[in-house]
Amino acid sequence: MRITWAIAIVLCHLMPLPTSAQATEDYEQIVSGAEISAGPVQILTKDVQHYLSLPPEVFDRTLIWSAEVARYPADAISLAGTEIATRAVKLERQGNRVLVRSLSSGSIRTSGTERFPTDDLKMTPIDIAFANAQIGPVLLSFDVLAENSDGRILLDATAPFTSDIADYSVKGQLSSTGITPIAVDPSRSYIAQASAHPTNIFLVSHLTFMAQDQTGQDRALSVEVAHTITLLPEDPMERRRFDPRVGYFATEVLDFEGDDGSPAGVLQLALRHRLTHADPNAPRPSDPAEPLVYYLSPEIPERWRPYIRAAIEDWQPAFEAAGFSNAIVARDAPTPAEDPDWSINDASHNVIRWITQPIANALGPNVHDPRTGEIISAHILVWPDVLNVFSDYYYLLMSDLDPHAQSLPLPEEVQGRILRYAVSHEVGHTLGLRHNHHASTAWSTDQLRDAAFVAEQGSTSSIMAYGRFNYVARPEDGIDQFFPLISAYDTHAIEWGYTPNLDADALDAIASESTDQHELVWGAGELPSEVYGHFDPGILTENIGADRIEATRAGIAALQSSLARLPDAIAPSPTKGDTMGRVFDQAKERYLGSIDSVTQMVGGLTSTASDGLPTGYVSVEDQKAALTYLMSDGISGLDMFADPQLLAEFRPVGGLEGADAMARRIVASLLDPSIIRLVYTQNQLQPDRDFGVAEMLATITDAFLQDATAIEDMPSPKRAALAEYVGLLQALPLYEGDPSAEILALLGFPQGLVDLSTASLTDTGIDAAAAAELEKLVEALAPQEDGLATRLFKDVERLLGIEPDDAEETETPSGENDP
Ligand SMILES: [Zn+2]
Repeated sequence: MRITWAIAIVLCHLMPLPTSAQATEDYEQIVSGAEISAGPVQILTKDVQHYLSLPPEVFDRTLIWSAEVARYPADAISLAGTEIATRAVKLERQGNRVLVRSLSSGSIRTSGTERFPTDDLKMTPIDIAFANAQIGPVLLSFDVLAENSDGRILLDATAPFTSDIADYSVKGQLSSTGITPIAVDPSRSYIAQASAHPTNIFLVSHLTFMAQDQTGQDRALSVEVAHTITLLPEDPMERRRFDPRVGYFATEVLDFEGDDGSPAGVLQLALRHRLTHADPNAPRPSDPAEPLVYYLSPEIPERWRPYIRAAIEDWQPAFEAAGFSNAIVARDAPTPAEDPDWSINDASHNVIRWITQPIANALGPNVHDPRTGEIISAHILVWPDVLNVFSDYYYLLMSDLDPHAQSLPLPEEVQGRILRYAVSHEVGHTLGLRHNHHASTAWSTDQLRDAAFVAEQGSTSSIMAYGRFNYVARPEDGIDQFFPLISAYDTHAIEWGYTPNLDADALDAIASESTDQHELVWGAGELPSEVYGHFDPGILTENIGADRIEATRAGIAALQSSLARLPDAIAPSPTKGDTMGRVFDQAKERYLGSIDSVTQMVGGLTSTASDGLPTGYVSVEDQKAALTYLMSDGISGLDMFADPQLLAEFRPVGGLEGADAMARRIVASLLDPSIIRLVYTQNQLQPDRDFGVAEMLATITDAFLQDATAIEDMPSPKRAALAEYVGLLQALPLYEGDPSAEILALLGFPQGLVDLSTASLTDTGIDAAAAAELEKLVEALAPQEDGLATRLFKDVERLLGIEPDDAEETETPSGENDP
């Protein structure tokens, strides 16, 4: 989702205005017989000509001009509903022309007043400085055709809106068809739709491009671009400064002479809808003056509509914490008979759309007022394929637990429930909420196995997590609600963002509730400034549960059951093999995702301080437990992906090697330079923890040697893991300052940590530690009898300076690592 964009409030009236319009034709004569669509700005249509009639007051207003692709060539992917551009603009009259000037240059002047001065007498020095320093580009120019006695100005919109406007060009997006657009042919282009509304105008440009395909053949390419130009509110909404303890999207601007007294600074404003009480004195919760209305587009198939309605109105209870009843409502879009001008592309409505393209996703973008962060409207896009992907996912994790998840495709009710979950999440985005991946790990195993608890709180403490379904539950727990719900964090965030008229102290009091209630903590780990989140095992996607190893064990057991019943879960059909392969591959992804969440514990940080800095390290005990788990159960669990009977059904060739590759990947992730460095630096900074790279490696080796299996008797994935481990151990002594250190610096790690990271690790004792582990492995595992040595251990022996069986075929042993 698009996050921020910014604006300059360019002061109007700096340029001299002409005293009289040089009207060239009589206004009344041109508009006579025209069809009128009336808002503050009128659109007049006469045959194929479209005119805009502007009232004088529109020149004092800031407008938002957004454009999206409305219709597109059938073979173009991901265009419908895709935003082309959104900009804040102002209109300027200059003699016989009207210019549309972009204000999006990143700054705002806020001092002293919420109003923006409209005449020179009210200008302060900073206003003058601002106007002298900044100017946005002119996006479009119209000739003035006529002016009437009310001061309305008539412009011809036909030519500008039947051309490819440079700053709103679709050329880049059209190239995804494989055909290169060259120029618009005006004779095949026209305004397909035009209507005026109380706060906006809406125009659809049908553009036909002269184009060329890849062979150089001339082609035609038609596309429709929906332009919505909205007047921003005259009374700007109350601003709320972004607080890093509550995860709202924010619009960021440079602020000169700001309210806090600083000459220049950055102001971050949380994005929120405007919501006020109908009766501010009524006991709360009470109804809003205007509820937030989300329209269901007519495109949405009938059978899914009840779930989408529920997804929207599921947010109502969260708004009660902010003092509102019935704050958010779902409505069917009006029929053409009810409102002929209603359009799904009209950016002044909140609309949920159903996009018939082969993409598995959902998105929740919005258009907002950059002066205040007010969300003007939101379009949620749902691609139906998202149901297929989540169905496989649900089957894989839940087939042991949900009697309705025994086969694929899932019953319609379960698919509908999945849709309700996905749409609620997107609605959350359009309310201003960012992801909260910290919420994935809010609940303990006991809580996740408590039927009453999860019925109320769901599988995560926020629907804005990517935590998904409650696979930690067990069949004997009697649970039948497995989905994430709008939960504790969401209610908390809505209370902070939507309770009206809160002063700074009141906002702080709400935000600080997360200090001692960990389910209210926000963490996303998504922006560069949130880099520590990447190393925090509490901030997870695609996993749930505070008890990482226990939860992962449950998730892997769930995958194992679901794979075992896969042949029976899919009805026989000519495509059964393909379906099994698809589900199997997703199971591999889920497996590695779960394992990665445990890997994240090794060298892991905790990172939920509001200043974005890490607050501590994962305990040594937990880091060791993670290592042991990964190298034992984490590897042995891979046997499920090497079941010859299962693979024979859909992947008779090449299937077995998959598990070996996964095993190698698990070891490689664990010995990744960034993890080695984290463990190393933690030990340097806190030596009394007594857990450095040597201890880390020893724990891994011990796990490999735990059941003392001879290498020949190991299952293939374990042997592959061991081979990878031995290979990486050999590389460790040679390992010097790596590129990840520079990335750490770029991402804003403290200099001390970066210095440690850029230091050559050859001086750290890691080489000796690696050699010691290699030696331990050889002693324990190298076969004693001639002829049984594997290639793997020949390499190890060579490295350690032990004379291999075939001395002539191998290189001279490295003296450096002589035992
Ligand atoms: Zn999301």
